[in-house]
Amino acid sequence: MVQYFPFRKELNQARGYLKTRGPKSKKNEQEYGPGKTDILVCEQCRAFYWHKSWHRNLEDYPALNQEKGLKFTTCPACQMIKDKRYEGQVLVQNAPVEMKAGIKKLAETYGQRATENDAMDRVISIEETGPIIEIKTTENQMAKRLAKKISEVYRGKFELSISNSKGEDTARARLTFKGK
Ligand SMILES: [Zn+2]
Repeated sequence: MVQYFPFRKELNQARGYLKTRGPKSKKNEQEYGPGKTDILVCEQCRAFYWHKSWHRNLEDYPALNQEKGLKFTTCPACQMIKDKRYEGQVLVQNAPVEMKAGIKKLAETYGQRATENDAMDRVISIEETGPIIEIKTTENQMAKRLAKKISEVYRGKFELSISNSKGEDTARARLTFKGK
């Protein structure tokens, strides 16, 4: 494949996707309007930027043809993972040994479904360190939803608290095991 070096402006706009969840600006629409630009493809995960958002697999794109050029880049989610950043964190504390596998499986399945719905929504990592299971996500609402889901599945077993860090877009959800 031909190596392509995208314009800085273009890349910054594409990468800015996670930061601009709100209404897209007029400018953005013009820049990415139909026929005006090539398709950006993530080298890591094959997500592609088209029609103002990132889609999951370039291979799934039915109308892909020679009319549009491909520009290779790194999508915002892969860039975040590469930079070891995250926007959502779930901390499960003191879960009994027999629940740990189930919680991790739940997080994994949740991540897969989330990514199917939105290519930029990822469960970045699921790590167990002593009594703590730490789950990191690319998006803050994901962490909140996952924590609520765990809390529902293990009804009454965990105390849930959610906090947003000030000045940042990062959310932390803490699930603390209460006992029987
Ligand atoms: Zn990617």
